[in-house]
Amino acid sequence: MKMTRFAFPYFKLTRQYLAAAVFMAITASTSIGFAAEKINIYSHRQQVLIQPFLDAFTAKTGIETNVVYSSKGLAQRLKAEGPASPADVILTVDIARLSEYADLDLLTPVDSSILQANIPSRLRSEDNRWFGFSERARILVTSKTRVAEGAVLDLEDLAKPEWKGRICSRAGSHDYNRALVASMIAAHGEAATETWARGVVGNLARKPQGNDRSQAKAIFQGLCDVAIMNSYYYGNMKFGDKADQKDWAQSIRLVFTNQSNRGNHMNISGGGVAKYAKNKMAAIAFLEFLTEEKAQHLYGEINFEYPVNPSVLVNGELASWGRFKPDTLPIERLAALAPKAQMIIDRVGW
Ligand code: FE
Repeated sequence: MKMTRFAFPYFKLTRQYLAAAVFMAITASTSIGFAAEKINIYSHRQQVLIQPFLDAFTAKTGIETNVVYSSKGLAQRLKAEGPASPADVILTVDIARLSEYADLDLLTPVDSSILQANIPSRLRSEDNRWFGFSERARILVTSKTRVAEGAVLDLEDLAKPEWKGRICSRAGSHDYNRALVASMIAAHGEAATETWARGVVGNLARKPQGNDRSQAKAIFQGLCDVAIMNSYYYGNMKFGDKADQKDWAQSIRLVFTNQSNRGNHMNISGGGVAKYAKNKMAAIAFLEFLTEEKAQHLYGEINFEYPVNPSVLVNGELASWGRFKPDTLPIERLAALAPKAQMIIDRVGW
């Protein structure tokens, strides 16, 4: 009987004590957990390109980062790891790779008002699984000495007879060119794009080969007069440590295309949160950090890529290349049209 009389207040006391203890434990574990927090990043981007971002993020938040870098095979690795994967964040370049992660269901939707506000809707997926953090302009470059300024203005010009035997290109089926062909399909439809692509291939000075930089080299060597190149390679050649590449950069003029119509074709670098992320809040904080002013400028300073955040103004070397109008086609369309683009590329033998 006495037990019963004492049991009730004792129970109440215990409940209050427990509630307080649980509250303290949660508070303690949150602060301790935050300080010791670490995110694992799977990156297709080279360590040298992302380290300054990681350092700035850790300095700001105290969250540490661990990077698994690989130029290929990370999506397959992530898929094989399944729910046991340690990956929290995926970082990569090109819509082709981002959509590969999305197609393999390796990313989780992220509901973040900061990402929504800082990234225009055309540069992120509709289901919020991937986000663009920088824009990359695929431009034309022309010989400074053999092509007059303004002689080529639009991608469409590449099929004109006056460029017969004067164009250099890497393989059409590379991600960069496939996306560019996809942008042409979006603008003109499949039939017109195939006619155009056949014209471009007919104008090539040599069999498609090499990477983007080797097209600039070919212009420097006088093998061709016009080429397709991502603009950041110009900055990397100009300021890199290879003397011969400085000469290649010196020999070319940058042409942002389609300025009187849809704007220059753009691609993105981007990423998302891994489907089985163990540190999801910290992972989201990292993505958000990448869209803030400091990181947005880093994209330009480190790799001559453009900010996605409309409130961040282009500065430094990038600004010296001039303002231009980007194609505002939603990036997701490039992924949707990629299979059709590839079929055209195969048919015309690019
Ligand atoms: Fe590249």
